[in-house]
Amino acid sequence: MGRVNPESLLFMQTALADFIKDTPEGREADAILRACVHCGFCNATCPTYQLLGDELDGPRGRIYLIKQILEGGPATARTQLHLDRCLTCRACETTCPSGVRYGRLADIGRHVVEQRVRRLWHERLTRWLLRSVLPYRSRFTPLLMLGRAVRPLLPGTLRRTVPPAQAAGFWPAPRHQRRMLVLEGCVQPGLAPRINAATARVLDHLGISLVRADSAGCCGAVSHHLSAQDEALDFMRRNIDAWWPHVEAGVEALVMTASGCGVMVKEYGQLLSHDPRYAAKATRIAELTRDIAEILADTELSVLQARPRKIAFQSPCTLQHGQKLGGVVERLLRGLGFELTPVPDAHLCCGSAGTYSILQGPLSQRLLANKLEALESGRPELIATANIGCLVHLQSRTRPRVVHWIELLDKA
Ligand code: SF4
Ligand code: SF4
Repeated sequence: MGRVNPESLLFMQTALADFIKDTPEGREADAILRACVHCGFCNATCPTYQLLGDELDGPRGRIYLIKQILEGGPATARTQLHLDRCLTCRACETTCPSGVRYGRLADIGRHVVEQRVRRLWHERLTRWLLRSVLPYRSRFTPLLMLGRAVRPLLPGTLRRTVPPAQAAGFWPAPRHQRRMLVLEGCVQPGLAPRINAATARVLDHLGISLVRADSAGCCGAVSHHLSAQDEALDFMRRNIDAWWPHVEAGVEALVMTASGCGVMVKEYGQLLSHDPRYAAKATRIAELTRDIAEILADTELSVLQARPRKIAFQSPCTLQHGQKLGGVVERLLRGLGFELTPVPDAHLCCGSAGTYSILQGPLSQRLLANKLEALESGRPELIATANIGCLVHLQSRTRPRVVHWIELLDKA
């Protein structure tokens, strides 16, 4: 008997099928699969595995499902269900000792399954509506205004998902030599216009002017996570075109105030690496992209006079697992005198996860209930977060006000 390579017993062996093995996605998926040592540590921190207790609703099981499909096995509605139930929260990536990039593998696997398994008509309709409305400010905001107009007539559960209108306050005119560009986003300007305006005011106070690129729009995350990859890439290219003149004019950074957008834009370089026209620009954009927490962590903040308050901070998955910025906001707020209440199981998703709260309502609501119990356990005055999706989701079922943490510094 020949010698057995011990590594072959540990790392996953793969034999990808012809349809994908020589494509960029196939090579990427192969490398990710081979990094997995199937230890199962990731299951311990997976929210859906914790709720459902099914191996196929945990990361290791989903990795096996994707492997089977990429090796030419059948994709079924059942496979699709287990992948749909994944929040793409990437808690498993934070836990994995082997550095498995599960989120990227899930994107590749879902895309293949989407092409093979025809969804029921109402699922297709819902997904089409989400893709047709959410990424377009000019469609979403008027619908939101309509929702607000009829809000008193809506049933309680639906009413709570339509936040009342808020005033943005003034946006300081550019007056500083230091300039940064902000991604305004698609739903955030309608739902909570104060977040970006507050960011502009705080940065202005710190000697930085925040400017906008009017023709930029959705970061592409909505389409990307609904497996409409080409559509997502088009959103990315449009944003790069809108931002490029500002990059050439010397903006220091591209500031993200929604961590869900930040994690997407930081991946532009990788996702457009096969587009010869955009690859270099996308890489430059990704390098310039920084969450507002990263900007402030590198800035002298003593000019800000904080009004100390007792708050619970919900660290979005896209901030702590996607961008690996866990603890940054918490340190900033503590440094400014805020009291942060303990939040048990802070690594777990709140159930918002982009369109997950709409597409996987019951699971999302169970995660929300658990998250609110954890956030409210320390009796905070306010709950603060770093992502618009989480903010609206949390506020839909809690009494304490939910804000973006930058708003706390604006008031300061
Ligand atoms: S923790 Fe990492 S290596 Fe272990 S099973 Fe999960 S993904 Fe694979
Ligand atoms: S991304 Fe989140 S929900 Fe999906 S497998 Fe990983 S930990 Fe579980």
